[in-house]
Amino acid sequence: MAHTHTAHTRYIFVTGGVLSSLGKGISSSSLATLLKQSGYRVNILKIDPYINVDPGTMSPLEHGEVFVTADGAETDLDIGHYERFLNTNLSKNNNFTTGQVYLSVIENERKGNYLGKTIQVVPHIVDEIKQRIKAVGKGADFLVIELGGTIGDIEGLPFLEAMRQLKHELPNQTLSIHVTLIPLVKAAGELKTKPTQHSVQELRRIGITPQIIIARSEKPLGKDLKRKLAMSCDVADDSVIEALDAQSIYQCPLNFLKEGILAPVARHFSLESITPDMSEWDMLVKKIISPKDEITIAFVGKYLHLKESYKSLTEALIHAGANIDTRVHIKWIDSEMLESGQLDELCDVDGVLIPGGFGSRGVLGKINAIEYARIHNVPFLGICLGMQLSIIEFARHELGIAQADSAEFDPDTSEPCIYLIEDFIDSSGQTQVRTHQSPMGGTMRLGEYECILAKGSKIAQAYHNAKSIKERHRHRYEANPAYRARLEASGMRICGESPQGLIEAIELENHPFFVAVQFHPEFTSRLQAPNPIILAFVKAAQEAKATGKAKAQTHV
Ligand code: GLN
Repeated sequence: MAHTHTAHTRYIFVTGGVLSSLGKGISSSSLATLLKQSGYRVNILKIDPYINVDPGTMSPLEHGEVFVTADGAETDLDIGHYERFLNTNLSKNNNFTTGQVYLSVIENERKGNYLGKTIQVVPHIVDEIKQRIKAVGKGADFLVIELGGTIGDIEGLPFLEAMRQLKHELPNQTLSIHVTLIPLVKAAGELKTKPTQHSVQELRRIGITPQIIIARSEKPLGKDLKRKLAMSCDVADDSVIEALDAQSIYQCPLNFLKEGILAPVARHFSLESITPDMSEWDMLVKKIISPKDEITIAFVGKYLHLKESYKSLTEALIHAGANIDTRVHIKWIDSEMLESGQLDELCDVDGVLIPGGFGSRGVLGKINAIEYARIHNVPFLGICLGMQLSIIEFARHELGIAQADSAEFDPDTSEPCIYLIEDFIDSSGQTQVRTHQSPMGGTMRLGEYECILAKGSKIAQAYHNAKSIKERHRHRYEANPAYRARLEASGMRICGESPQGLIEAIELENHPFFVAVQFHPEFTSRLQAPNPIILAFVKAAQEAKATGKAKAQTHV
């Protein structure tokens, strides 16, 4: 797999046609994975044509999950797919928006950097885009660039112009791929190529001719239709890649490989051949598709109409499941449905998971679910808000502090078990944590931080007895150390701490598996490297199911 690396980066642009949500992110990740598994240095970039400077302030209901990188950027959820496929940490440079591009150009203009020139989309905005693309490509053999949105969108034009200019400057180093839909007209039972033809025509009108078409379709295209598409879109006959709906997104690289996507890529860049080693990947995908065992996890959340807002976590459960040859069924439970205390929904699950969240809606239902898992010895994992609520639940029901609360839900609470990060900073008189001023006014703790694990704890075992780990954060509130001694005296162990003494993880001593963490472990989970604490939780749920079954059998 050794390659003589060229000094020149090859740029692969991925655009989308016909409609949005065609899986451009998965297509880009899949191709990047094949290239990486072939021994190349691959980097990947997502360009978002919206005006927001970052997705941090966008509603998860509108935009899906905000993915947090190790360096603390709040990015698009596609960056999460890239990291999960490529098994690598990306940074804030791997995603930029129209808002960021304009912001830097306008800042430069205010500083007088343009020497009094009139600032225009061409050349200034386009130059800024090109320069950002090149910066990410530096040092890579391939840079895959996914352009968000659909061809024909007004806000996409400056980016397409940047692509066109890069192609002009570096003709042998750029390749263009168009991901499109071949709709099935049910009444006629026919697949229709016309929308794709129009979309490619629109691309050509602005000076870009794709070399490869990735055609999403419900039904196999067949040779004739592929040939027709190749002819009408002016690509080589082997360059129409059929992309049928897959059972798992992780199948996509394997499907692309079967469809022969690497032949036109190699040819275009005058490479002899590109041959990836996908054996481990193939084995993991088989375990996702037809595993030996299955378990059910209750996922007690709030944004259930848009499951995309929990993307990293649902993917992390898939990774953990694949690792132990088990399908992890998710039982989605709206936390508001548990507020009455009616918890029948939890009776038949093998584990309870409380994800992160913001705001007070549904909090009581989550607290009820936590109490249930604690008392009934059901394996439990709490993440971020899930940890904060585990502490509140324990304080209320075990320590008898009825008023225990988070300052997020009641800023004037008399028992702030969870309080604002600023309070921690102020009380010590100095900034002990790196914080980011969010545009909404609050201070967010974002990105990767060190966490020191207590020796012998469940969490330390999960992380292979590591003394210290790094995981990613996104929160405004912290557990209040004033309650620490009382929590510990009653059996709640503080098993993870930041070097400054912030409470990062807790677990219960007299429970088979009750762990909660202030960080978001899901952001570092990958198919090839599942997150250790999520894996430990899924294993605990699998064991609980097995012992439950064994017990039921002895009772018969
Ligand atoms: N709302 C809580 C906080 O800001 C938890 C955040 C989260 O779960 N990501 O601290």
